[in-house]
Amino acid sequence: MRNRICIVCGRPLGETPLMTLADMPASAQDIPVKEELGEEQGITLSLHQCEACGLVQFDCEPVAYYKDVIRSGGFTTTMVNLRKSQYRHFIDRYHLEGKKLIEAGCGQGEFLGVLSDFPVKAYGIENRESLVRLAKEKGLTVWKQFAAEGEILAADDGSAGGPYDGFLSFNFLEHQPDPVGMLRCIADNLSEEGVGLITVPSLEYILQYDGYYELIRDHLAYYTFDTLRYAVEKAGFQVLEEEMINRDTLSVIVRKKKRTAEQAEDNSKHTPVDISGLKESLGTIGKELEELADSLKSQGKTLGIWGASHQGFTLASTTVIGQFARYIIDSAPFKQGKYAPASHLPIVPPDHYHMDPVDAILIVAPGYTKEIAEIIEEKFGGHVEILALKSNHLERI
Ligand SMILES: [Zn+2]
Repeated sequence: MRNRICIVCGRPLGETPLMTLADMPASAQDIPVKEELGEEQGITLSLHQCEACGLVQFDCEPVAYYKDVIRSGGFTTTMVNLRKSQYRHFIDRYHLEGKKLIEAGCGQGEFLGVLSDFPVKAYGIENRESLVRLAKEKGLTVWKQFAAEGEILAADDGSAGGPYDGFLSFNFLEHQPDPVGMLRCIADNLSEEGVGLITVPSLEYILQYDGYYELIRDHLAYYTFDTLRYAVEKAGFQVLEEEMINRDTLSVIVRKKKRTAEQAEDNSKHTPVDISGLKESLGTIGKELEELADSLKSQGKTLGIWGASHQGFTLASTTVIGQFARYIIDSAPFKQGKYAPASHLPIVPPDHYHMDPVDAILIVAPGYTKEIAEIIEEKFGGHVEILALKSNHLERI
């Protein structure tokens, strides 16, 4: 099903997409089991730029679990330190000491736990029951709620309720089919001077450094500072601060506008994005992986992939390696024994290598390449050829 209107401004998206991606995984989190393979298949995704507000977005339906915050890994010391410094600045600068802060989409409380070390009253809402339970087990005040327009954000048992003085939203808005509705809900539950801290992945970073395999159906929208500002203004906020964090993430601090304030002005002079690099990556990566498969095949050699990540799934389903590789190795037990969406490559634990060794392994785990290469050398010995994708190119490690 196609969504023909912009998720932020509601105007028609236009007929011609920026690019179309065939055979993409239908979801990054719902990993099929054997019995589901008959039904499971890749989908075609069309990336559009709204001609009116400039937001780059897919025109598809959201994944079934878009209300849930499933943070897969990445909970590193660097990330914790980043959150701490963001919290410190937010609380000091906007005088939030002793005040009520709510995180919309808190998952199992990964970042809310860090906030608990600060002198504020910290609350979180999360749609997925199992994650709410995990967060509660950590002693956090979290309840099941989503933040759709019109909702009153309060715990059922009366232990917490608004108005809140501030809110937090970490990489959640890009999943939302109605981001303005979500932000309006939050605004309605804030005090008059309420402030918020929002982060989303940066479109510019993807365009500059990543290949098409970073695009993922779970992320319906790809924001820039301009389009994010437009969305938050439409929801009744004004932007006070904008900052690029961790090289690849947009971070903004917003404040609720007075009720009498005018609606967001229509941002008709948006800049068209240049996605030529992404389009090119579809060709170059496809060709490089084809050459790799041909070369290995001609030598009678075999290939495995390491990383049942969305990037790994996408590379497997959109290039020849989905047919050529024997399996995808992943250390996460909950992925093992299942199959990659669309390509249906089996996902196996690292030890599987000893039963069914391969001659070369392609690592697809952005941010963990070095660490995984070391594991491969240590566990499988030095004779395995190790490769990795760096942006647009295949590299031997
Ligand atoms: Zn729009």
